[in-house]
Amino acid sequence: PVKAHLMDSEGIRRAITRIAHEIVEKNQGVEELVFVGIRRRGVPLAQRLREKIADIEGLQIPLGALDITLYRDDLTTLHVQPLIHKTEVPFSIDGKIVVLVDDVLYTGRTVRAALDALMDIGRPQAIQLAVLIDRGHRELPIRADFVGKNVPTAKKENISVRLQEIDGDDVVSIQEI
Ligand code: 5GP
Ligand code: MG
Repeated sequence: PVKAHLMDSEGIRRAITRIAHEIVEKNQGVEELVFVGIRRRGVPLAQRLREKIADIEGLQIPLGALDITLYRDDLTTLHVQPLIHKTEVPFSIDGKIVVLVDDVLYTGRTVRAALDALMDIGRPQAIQLAVLIDRGHRELPIRADFVGKNVPTAKKENISVRLQEIDGDDVVSIQEI
């Protein structure tokens, strides 16, 4: 059941617009930037940021994707193992500023695995993290550089992120499991 609506399509659009401006400002331009979206929903979010930045700066930032899931061998968060299924980064990240993009940041374990995967692929100058929702409960010293919305959650709650490209509409809500 839906406990609370957090963002509608306008809210998501505004968050993407703000984050796009923050990325450009923090990096004083976009020449050295590349995006890597974490599948599935990090990828359309990265595409939206890329389109917005193309509007602002007139430059198309390269976009790659990582497919990472957490494998749990029980129902707790103990013994979670990240599985890297696929890395699709068809350009060099050497010397680049990589902006990782995901829908929800929770324990930080997926991002940690993504950092490992990126370090295997090349030698980036820096890696930054953009997420639509930070729901707290970090288990690792990882934080996002760009956040759409900070949402304090209970561990038993789940953030539902629906995106037009995958789900047919844009809406973020909290669900009680
Ligand atoms: P973490 O690795 O930080 O524990 O979890 C982050 C990953 O799991 C993200 O890729 C995200 O897609 C997914 N995730 C974790 N919690 C939620 C949640 O409440 N809602 C959604 N939609 N995804 C979540
Ligand atoms: Mg995910």
